[in-house]
Amino acid sequence: MKNCLYMVIPCYNEQEVLSETATRLKKKMELLVREGKISKASRITFVNDGSNDKTWEVISGLHKIDHLYCGINLSMNKGHQNALLAGIMTVKDYADMVITMDVDLQDDINAIDEMVDKYLDGCDIVYGVRSSRDRDSFFKRVSAEGYYRLMNTLGAKTIFNHADFRLMSKRAIEGLAQFNEVNLFLRGIVPMIGYRSDSVYYERGVRFAGKSKYPLNKVLSFAWEGITSFSIKPIRMISTLGAIIFTLSIGMLIYILIRYFTGETTVGWASVAVSVWSIGGLILLSLGVVGEYIGKIYLETKKRPHYIVENFLSDYGNNEDEC
Ligand code: UDP
Ligand code: MG
Repeated sequence: MKNCLYMVIPCYNEQEVLSETATRLKKKMELLVREGKISKASRITFVNDGSNDKTWEVISGLHKIDHLYCGINLSMNKGHQNALLAGIMTVKDYADMVITMDVDLQDDINAIDEMVDKYLDGCDIVYGVRSSRDRDSFFKRVSAEGYYRLMNTLGAKTIFNHADFRLMSKRAIEGLAQFNEVNLFLRGIVPMIGYRSDSVYYERGVRFAGKSKYPLNKVLSFAWEGITSFSIKPIRMISTLGAIIFTLSIGMLIYILIRYFTGETTVGWASVAVSVWSIGGLILLSLGVVGEYIGKIYLETKKRPHYIVENFLSDYGNNEDEC
């Protein structure tokens, strides 16, 4: 069946908000089916990420009442990114397109129409992008925007102000399946898949109910994960720093020798000062060089695909001479 949409929604201790989200999404899906934009086989899939409240009971209840709702129950809490991947990979064989969104209604359900329109228009990936951060605190706004800029400077092509609200076509998901990352940072990986992509802008709301599952320590470790999963530039910075300090140490050596020969030093100062500078610089430089090799091993172990083929023009299969 054509244009089958699967919504994938990770849930961790979300019993308070689930039913409301389910009701609102159902309305949206029914509207899209009536408009002929998505097929009747479309589904809403909730992924229970090892919750310890009644989240799974609510999901099972929803599925019992209406088969529009599906549920995936993870064996334990694996975190937002893994829950998203579990959902996407489980439904990928049934879906023509998948939209991932948070369950707390911060992502605007009305942006789904435009995402589907862009898919029908030929886009493989549609990013949900926050149109403004006016509702964020000053600290959150500055740190989040600074982070996106830093990621791009370090060489990871993230989409500015986009999190995990996005549509992906079947072939984009097949591309994603070729990435064997252990440290998942989807918003960094998805732009590496390629294909035609576009953005939809939306106003991010406030959480409908319940508390954020991302306390500051989780946010920081997620941000660090993003940097270290995508870039070996921090290692290169150590090499550069080592090279700078070592070069400076040569200058210092000349200065110290001049002071030594003009007799303006106390005994022992020259040798200690030279050693501190030159050995410090050499250690940093060596660390950086060793780090370069570790960086190469790190990139190798990721086993990222070298390419993803978009089109393959051939008459293979139509040619009768072929065996
Ligand atoms: N979530 C999850 N596993 C976790 C933490 C969060 O599946 O370990 C889900 C959560 O239920 C929600 C989404 O990830 O649907 C985003 O979490 P949250 O809204 O708490 O993050 P925030 O919007 O505060 O950054
Ligand atoms: Mg949220």
